[in-house]
Amino acid sequence: RCAVLRRGRLVTRITLVQGDITEQRVDAVVNAANSAMLGGGGVDGAIHRRGGPEVLDDCRRLRASRYGRGLPTGQAVATTAGRLPARWVIHTVGPVHRAEVDNSALLASCYRESLRVADDLGARTVAFPAVSTGIYGWPLEDAARIALATVAGAGAAVAEARFVLFDGTAFEAFQGVLDGLE
Ligand code: ADP
Repeated sequence: RCAVLRRGRLVTRITLVQGDITEQRVDAVVNAANSAMLGGGGVDGAIHRRGGPEVLDDCRRLRASRYGRGLPTGQAVATTAGRLPARWVIHTVGPVHRAEVDNSALLASCYRESLRVADDLGARTVAFPAVSTGIYGWPLEDAARIALATVAGAGAAVAEARFVLFDGTAFEAFQGVLDGLE
């Protein structure tokens, strides 16, 4: 399934698909990593499994050099994509959803920073998962609003930002919000 946001003044075309992000033929795939960058569950586990040991080696090198204390929440950094069809994995750390603290600026930052890294790499197509909506507990519709508004307003040079939603519920949440933007 696919939905598209087209706006005259928008540089980046936003598309939605339901599927597995590890199968996407795009230049860069964004990973909802954790700050340790050494793999985990959910989309992170899937990317490391399909990408293979080269991805983990690059993550370890980054931990040993730039990110001794881990990749901070809301930031993004690229590695090779190993055996994935993509060229790069852009790792970003989403915030954990907490009812008593508003972390939405950090979630927006994940998308903005990932697009900035994608632009630096010269990536034309970028696939995003619904960052923070799994283990990190962010309510889907609110996460979709933040994700789509941030990407639509980022003014990035990438030609396509593709949201890859794993199940029908996530796809429908994103589609509902996207329809509201059009
Ligand atoms: P977080 O820790 O940021 O919440 P998760 O990986 O637990 O990250 O979940 C983020 C989102 O990614 C969830 O909506 C989950 O359903 C989805 N997801 C899990 N595996 C995949 C995959 N292979 N492709 C795309 N999305 C996935």
